[in-house]
Amino acid sequence: MKPNKHKATHSAEREFGGALGATCIPVFLPLTVLYLLSVCRSPAASVLQWPPPLPPAAHLWDPLAAVLIVGWITLQSFLYLLPIGKVAEGLVLRDGSRLKYAINGFHTLSITAVLLLVCLWLGMPLGYLFELILPLAVCAIGVSYLLSMYLYIRSFWAPQHALSLGGNTGNPLYDFFMGRELNPRIGDFDLKYFCELRPGLIGWVVINLGMLMKEVELRGSPSLAMLLVNGFQLLYVTDALWNEEAVLTTMDIVHDGFGFMLAFGDLAWVPFTYGLQAMFLVVHPQSLSTLGAAGIILLNGIGYYIFRKSNSQKNQFRRDPTHKSVSQLETIATATGKRLLVSGWWGFVRHPNYLGDLLMALAWSLPCGMLHILPYFYVIYFTILLIQREARDEKQCRAKYGLAWDTYCRRVPYRIIPYIY
Ligand code: NDP
Repeated sequence: MKPNKHKATHSAEREFGGALGATCIPVFLPLTVLYLLSVCRSPAASVLQWPPPLPPAAHLWDPLAAVLIVGWITLQSFLYLLPIGKVAEGLVLRDGSRLKYAINGFHTLSITAVLLLVCLWLGMPLGYLFELILPLAVCAIGVSYLLSMYLYIRSFWAPQHALSLGGNTGNPLYDFFMGRELNPRIGDFDLKYFCELRPGLIGWVVINLGMLMKEVELRGSPSLAMLLVNGFQLLYVTDALWNEEAVLTTMDIVHDGFGFMLAFGDLAWVPFTYGLQAMFLVVHPQSLSTLGAAGIILLNGIGYYIFRKSNSQKNQFRRDPTHKSVSQLETIATATGKRLLVSGWWGFVRHPNYLGDLLMALAWSLPCGMLHILPYFYVIYFTILLIQREARDEKQCRAKYGLAWDTYCRRVPYRIIPYIY
């Protein structure tokens, strides 16, 4: 096939600060990961300490880390290809076709858990992940760069209809960052779908478990704070994989190309920054009262309830609006033929799922006490991410639904937090 050298015909509005953002972010974010990990392990754990506790270059590389990262991705690829679970169809693509996806993420998590238990039983020192965390992050960042380069190059052989609408401006740095091809596949192996919920997300909870084992090594047993952080985040990851099919209708799969933004986010950012709390607790143990722990569990429970109920309600409505659980809800018609919910969770605020997610994010940080800002990194970053994501989604919905979207905004005036935002 001839390479497609020309850009897509439509003029996409640039996101993430355009070409400048797309040039700076791939440098700045990987450095941020290494900086956060270094600060987290330092005794002061202060983001303001000067000079920053930068590790010597020799601490950034360990061949064992490279072996572990390659082995991990190979294992997850193998599990992804196992003929277990079911097969689901994605949304209709621009050429009218629908791709098929293996829904076996929960099986993958379960098999990984069994393999890990066996390894622990055989005496594998999982706590060593604490020592190895910087080289592991360096290797994951390296893999995300290599993968993005491969994705960028191969996209020139993809047919026009397979390119994403946002990542084909003709500016190589911007397109490398946003991703040119929408659903790059090697045979049936969907690279974006695989990276979205498997190596990084499951890797995140494995690293958390490593931190717990390190705590056991150091202090004889895991602390309550560590158990809460591990439990909450495991629940989140298990939920994502249990409801894996829902990812097929998300912006990442439907709208965004596969480039550095998603590759780095999935493979390096999520596993190495989302669980900073667990790493923080290894070096900075916290004592938590039973009442405090109960309050935090309640907060996580409320957040999870809102998150799960609202996501399920919309998914059910989009899948089958006549289903009895959603057929009684009030809706408004749009010119596209699709309807918008204006009662139930989606009549409460315009993004109830984000609200639930943010409450959970706060509950993950609270076990780390109130003296350091670092364990609150996730909730701060996530608030910024979701505000930006909400704005992107609103823009797309306004373009899709026009006046009907304005009516929805009048009926449901708050975006994420009732009476505040
Ligand atoms: P959403 O699930 O919020 O979906 C947004 C889409 O829902 C819109 O584009 C629109 O699509 C549809 N929609 C919006 N309003 C209505 C309505 N009133 N009635 C019916 N449909 C409506 O998208 P996200 O992918 O952003 O989020 C999914 C989940 O993933 C969230 O819980 C979020 O918090 C979480 N998330 C977590 C991240 C993390 O790093 N932990 C990162 C990003 C997301 P259409 O009309 O075309 O169906």
